[in-house]
Amino acid sequence: MLKKKSLGQNFLNSPKIVSDIVEAGNVGSSETVLEIGPGEGVMTEKLLETGAHVICIEKDDRLIPELHKRFLKEISGKQLELIHADVLDTGITHIIKVKYKVVANIPYYITGQIIRMFLECDNQPEKMTLLVQKEVAERAVARDGKESLLSLSIKIFGDPKLVRVVGRGAFTPQPNVDSAVLSIEKISKERLEGVDEKLFFKIIHAGFAHKRKQLLPNLASIYKKEDLISAFEKCGIDLKARAEDVELNGWVKLCKNFYGS
Ligand code: SAM
Repeated sequence: MLKKKSLGQNFLNSPKIVSDIVEAGNVGSSETVLEIGPGEGVMTEKLLETGAHVICIEKDDRLIPELHKRFLKEISGKQLELIHADVLDTGITHIIKVKYKVVANIPYYITGQIIRMFLECDNQPEKMTLLVQKEVAERAVARDGKESLLSLSIKIFGDPKLVRVVGRGAFTPQPNVDSAVLSIEKISKERLEGVDEKLFFKIIHAGFAHKRKQLLPNLASIYKKEDLISAFEKCGIDLKARAEDVELNGWVKLCKNFYGS
C-alpha cells in the first residue's frame, strides 16, 4: 500500500527496533497500553505478545480493514480494541477510564500536540514511550544543558529520558532525519501542586518569546521590571540569566511568587 506522507507514514522495518521500543515501554500483562497510529500493525503485534490489553487509534481508513483482518482473533477476544479516529479528536478521558501507558511510533507532524494532549489531560498515562525525531528527543531532555519550552512543558509533568537513537534506515520509506526513543516516566500533576498551570505556561511562553533577549526583559512583557528584579533575587535567579539557563525549579518558584499578582 502506498504510504501517505501527509499522515507521517514511515513504518518500522526492523523487528529488533520494534522489540526494543516495546521493551522500553515496560508493559505488564495485566496493564492497558495505548498505541497511536498502528499502521500495518508491526508494533501492535509485539504489544499483544506482552499479554496487555491494547487500544489502537488509527486515522487512515485504508489501514482499518487490514488491521481487522490481521488481528481478527485478538479483536474478537477483546484483547485489542481498534479505534478509527484522529487521535487529536478523541478526548482521551472518554476513551480510557483505567490506568494506562502509551507506546507508539507517532506521526511526527503532530508530535508536540500529542505530547501536550496526553500530559495535560485529566487521565494522564503513567508513562509514554515514543519514537520521535532525534532533535526533538534531545531538546526534550535538554541534552545540551539548555532548557526549552518543550523540556519544561514535559518536566512539569514527568521525567523525560532519551532511551536510544534509531537511524533513518529502520523506516520505510526512509525519512530525512534520524529518530530516537523518548520515554516520559513518573507522569503526574504532583509537581504542579501549589502552582497555577495556566500561569506556569504563560510565564514560560513569555520567558522564551525572544531567544536573543535575557529572561528579565522577556518577562517585562507581563510584569513590572521592579517586581521582576525582586522576584529574581528571592528565587535565586541571576538577573542576567537567559530562559534556557533556568531549570524547572526556578520557574516553579517564579510562578509561586507571581501567583495572584
Ligand atoms: N506503528 C506503525 C509502525 O511503527 O510501523 C506506523 C507508524 S507511522 C510513523 C504513524 C501512523 O500514525 C500511521 O499509521 C498514520 O496513518 C497514523 N496517523 C497519522 N496521523 C494520525 C492521527 N492524527 N491520529 C491517529 N493516527 C494517525
